[in-house]
Amino acid sequence: MPGLVNAHFHSPGNFMKGCLEGMPLELFMLYEVPPLAGDSAKGGLAAQADRFTYVRTLLGAVEMLRRGITTVHDDAYHVPIVTHTGLDAMLQAYADAGIRATVAIDQPNIVEYDKYPFLRDLLPPGERAHMDAAPLQSEAELLAAYHHLITHWHGAAGGRLRAAVSCSAPQRVTPSYFRALSALSKQHDLPFNIHILETRLQRVLGQEVFGESLVKYVHRLGLLDERMMVIHAIWVDDEDIALLAASGCTVAHNPVCNLRLGSGIMPWRKLSDAGVPLCLGTDEMNTDDTTNLWAVTKLAGMVHSLADADCRRWPQAEEVLHAAIRGGARAIRRHADLGQLQPGFRADLVLLDLDTHAFTPLNDLRRQLVFCEDGSSVRYTIVDGRVVFEDGRIAGIDEKALRAEARALHAAFQAVAARQSGDAERLAPYYRAMLERAQAVALR
Ligand SMILES: [Zn+2]
Repeated sequence: MPGLVNAHFHSPGNFMKGCLEGMPLELFMLYEVPPLAGDSAKGGLAAQADRFTYVRTLLGAVEMLRRGITTVHDDAYHVPIVTHTGLDAMLQAYADAGIRATVAIDQPNIVEYDKYPFLRDLLPPGERAHMDAAPLQSEAELLAAYHHLITHWHGAAGGRLRAAVSCSAPQRVTPSYFRALSALSKQHDLPFNIHILETRLQRVLGQEVFGESLVKYVHRLGLLDERMMVIHAIWVDDEDIALLAASGCTVAHNPVCNLRLGSGIMPWRKLSDAGVPLCLGTDEMNTDDTTNLWAVTKLAGMVHSLADADCRRWPQAEEVLHAAIRGGARAIRRHADLGQLQPGFRADLVLLDLDTHAFTPLNDLRRQLVFCEDGSSVRYTIVDGRVVFEDGRIAGIDEKALRAEARALHAAFQAVAARQSGDAERLAPYYRAMLERAQAVALR
């Protein structure tokens, strides 16, 4: 079969599997992208920051290849700032792994408290001052990082590696930077990563601060287009769905992450009926805890039964597989040559063993791929015609040494994470107050 496409992923979460209990996105992000992290926050990792990035990225790539994921779309954030050598480390890891990777730079340029409703007023002046002092890169610095990514890595490794752009979310960037990213996306035909309406609080933010839904805001700026991959789209209304459909964008569905953070359930059938192409992602290892897209297909095949009493409107196995393969190819602007077993398409293939429990006995191949397979039947993973996983081993990678190095780096990582958790716990009461205030706002 064609390889799976993990259409939404943040590799910087790769060391955080199992780190956190479930919590709302707004609290979770205090741990994921600590808003007070300065250079000193890197602690024992500072001297080996790029090696850490390399090992962290490679670890996730290897896990994906073993499960038959041939392409990843990495919306990579950088704490506290993006560096050119950090980008090189990340892309080199993907080059060495042999996976197909499209990589964006997910770096907001708005001060932390202005990304949310009510937070500026809820925070004591001392915490606001800490946030004002946190490193924030200028539009020029961020565009220079993109220039580096595009000139050094876009089309590298025989075309396996590509660049994408990301604004993270519309409320996290200035309109000026947002427009510059859109221009870059148009100029090079790059996918544009944007998280929109992941949580109810973001719906309130649109209503109270922007005076319109965040989908409408992006549309009004003239930036909602077919290169966009809109991530989550959970709290969308019918007008938002019509705008998404008219734009030609793709929507990335990440049901494991959405349940882990209690965000809600994306309206699969409404989006699909409107003609919006859907793709699937694991999001990241601090909210999915694995890179297992098979688990995502299974949940996508089940969770929508809660949203609709009519079982004829629940996603069918064929649709779910289409999202996991062709939807992902579309999201990275590769629907013309990825995700089909057909002349003219790139040879990104997976061979599964049918002599396994998942397929014994064999009743319906597609349903058993969606509901029974967990990646353990994958015997060969082929990317761009090259066998990268065979006989239980990833070609050219000493996986035992990789895991040992990851464990060694983990000690320094934990020391940094512990300090940042202290900040998160101190800030959490203000974020909880914000969530409570937003919860009391009726949605219009
Ligand atoms: Zn995400």
